[in-house]
Amino acid sequence: MGRRTRIRWVKETPNNFYFPNTEPSFEESIVLTISEFESMRLKHYLNFDQNAAADEMGISQPTFSRILENAHQKTTQALIKGKLIKIYGGNIDYKVSFIGYGCIDCNHEWEDNSASKDNKVNCVKCNSKNIYFFVREQI
Ligand SMILES: [Zn+2]
Repeated sequence: MGRRTRIRWVKETPNNFYFPNTEPSFEESIVLTISEFESMRLKHYLNFDQNAAADEMGISQPTFSRILENAHQKTTQALIKGKLIKIYGGNIDYKVSFIGYGCIDCNHEWEDNSASKDNKVNCVKCNSKNIYFFVREQI
């Protein structure tokens, strides 16, 4: 006998089922900073707890918590309003110490000071094309 799934009540259904749902314009986009993106990647993709994630980013847990909360608010806005999410930049008080690439498939990360978002590179370990760009920041 199969396990019954209880009905879940939803007060408002999504207005947008695909993202982005229209040709997005700059005005319709939400900017997620690289730190905010990184906070979500560490917490919800790699499943770090907040203390480990804060250590990984070289910041305090309360600061990590604040960055993650901002990331949640912005992505929630984007989901509800169907806005494009742009990921770039950050606090201008931040100083880039080094940059590099990471591989979505094998999780390998490597430094490359000549790295650029525009570069098309393959993973140096598994040759995957699913590469993300990262910036390590110092306050
Ligand atoms: Zn790889």
